[in-house]
Amino acid sequence: MYLTKLETYEQQLYDQGIIVKESYVPKANAMCMKFKNGNFNSVIFYDPNKLNNDSKEIHCALLHEEMHLTHEETMYGIDEPIAKQMNKERKIKRLISRKCIPQETLFNMLYERHMELYEIADELCLTEDIIKDAYEYYSQLESWIKKKMKYDEDPQGYY
Ligand SMILES: [Zn+2]
Repeated sequence: MYLTKLETYEQQLYDQGIIVKESYVPKANAMCMKFKNGNFNSVIFYDPNKLNNDSKEIHCALLHEEMHLTHEETMYGIDEPIAKQMNKERKIKRLISRKCIPQETLFNMLYERHMELYEIADELCLTEDIIKDAYEYYSQLESWIKKKMKYDEDPQGYY
């Protein structure tokens, strides 16, 4: 049986003890909760209507919640100061980039395969915003800048 990227990903979450449920979610498109015991340690609720029933948007919303669940230092309550919340959300973006689009992969897609943003989004089943976040993050790293300089010197010889 052929599974879509999203179905495969939901299966991986299930195997990790994270259940995914469709539900109305107040004030957000998805949320997660962690439990201390039982066969399942966590649950992610997502609101398919707020995510336009779009598999890319759902995939990204689930990834976002998974990163909160698997990196406990990024969890926060609504009473936490906003600056701290924003720092944690920035960290989530970096974690998603590293998990879904490794630096090497994105570089190759952009400069070897000359792919457009929407083509990358299609291939990875991710939103264009997530790809942009990854680009913003990686393109300021020294390793990326060096690779890009090498590529610019000799685009043909790069592989
Ligand atoms: Zn978040």
